[in-house]
Amino acid sequence: MVVSTINGTSPLSHSNGTTIPLSTFSRNSFVNVEKGDPVAFRPYWEKVRDECTVEIKGDEWMSYLGDTNNLCWYMVPQMRDAILRLHNVVGNAVTKDKFLVLGTGSSQLYQALLYALSPSESSYRPINVVAAAPYYSEYKDATDILQSRLFQWTGDAALYDKDEPYIEVVTSPNNPDGTLRVPVVNSGVEGKIIYDLAYYWPQYTPITDQLDHDVMVFTFSKCTGHAGSRIGWAFVKDIEVAKKMIRFVQLNSIGVSRESQIRAAKMIGVICDGYKNLKSIESDHLFFDYSKRLMKERWEKFKGAIEKSKVFTLTKYPTSYCHFNKDLSEQYPAFAWLKCLEGIKDGESYLEKLKIRTRGGGRFGVDAKYVRVSMIGTEDEFIELCTRLSNAKRE
Ligand code: PMP
Repeated sequence: MVVSTINGTSPLSHSNGTTIPLSTFSRNSFVNVEKGDPVAFRPYWEKVRDECTVEIKGDEWMSYLGDTNNLCWYMVPQMRDAILRLHNVVGNAVTKDKFLVLGTGSSQLYQALLYALSPSESSYRPINVVAAAPYYSEYKDATDILQSRLFQWTGDAALYDKDEPYIEVVTSPNNPDGTLRVPVVNSGVEGKIIYDLAYYWPQYTPITDQLDHDVMVFTFSKCTGHAGSRIGWAFVKDIEVAKKMIRFVQLNSIGVSRESQIRAAKMIGVICDGYKNLKSIESDHLFFDYSKRLMKERWEKFKGAIEKSKVFTLTKYPTSYCHFNKDLSEQYPAFAWLKCLEGIKDGESYLEKLKIRTRGGGRFGVDAKYVRVSMIGTEDEFIELCTRLSNAKRE
């Protein structure tokens, strides 16, 4: 039984009897906001835990196959229907006339897309893969880990000046700095574009448009916070690209866990049912209302701490009309992107001395005076982060 409170500060016991001890911060312990583990929304899921329970019997979901009538043969119909329903409720993507490809997290789909979008003729040099800096730190390593002959990491898209084929990854809202982005490459050759829309959900940013790109990637991890289920999906216009991605997933993992699909479909169903029954439900029971409020509260607290510290500046975000919430709203990104004021050259080392573990600008292709801080960790971690930041003083 989970006994934690709304702000997630009590110890956790799982139904299998194991206990996760509460993180207690002493002066010497680190606050780790380096990673982007999206556990902030756990109190919501705790409130609706009974509605979300999924029972899987011993003889169920044994086959590799999900739906042999679908191009994406390992995706179960419940998963497909839930994803389409979610986009229909949120209005963040046009799903009509596109192929839906499921992946073991969107990380697997990134690899699948590099494979699918690379020229197949072996005489070509590896295709260049670029993203505008600061870019999501994992793209570089994920691109180069196998030292493929098909593709290679080429760095900052804004500096790309070759008249050679390329793939540009456009992350919007961006990880690490939360900005809304469009392609930036200026080349004589037409490139292929991957839109990584991991954070294009109403708790992080106003939903301004129903996006309609040829390749759009989403992840369950940052939408609901269930990163451990490892569910990601892509909408792809070109059937040949979709087929190649599915072949990649087949060779890489022979599909996607069907237990995970069933659980993810259930969670998504609970979110969508909430918005269907709008009148009979309190707003704290609506997932995006809850999660947006949480992000807003955290950002307000965080901005206060940064102002007090007088050591950093923060990225400024525009206010836009959100078609989902039907209001004007700011952005509340999953990460804060801090720039150190004059005199501090290395933000990560500076914060390390304050016992705050962050990810420095170098990992994102920019200067070390920038650091990324996760805004989606546990509540106690976040509170301690704000306390330590507001006590930070210039050296
Ligand atoms: N893209 C971006 C921009 C991300 O921030 C992340 C997670 N940190 C991913 C992709 C990968 O997410 P997952 O594999 O959990 O779907």
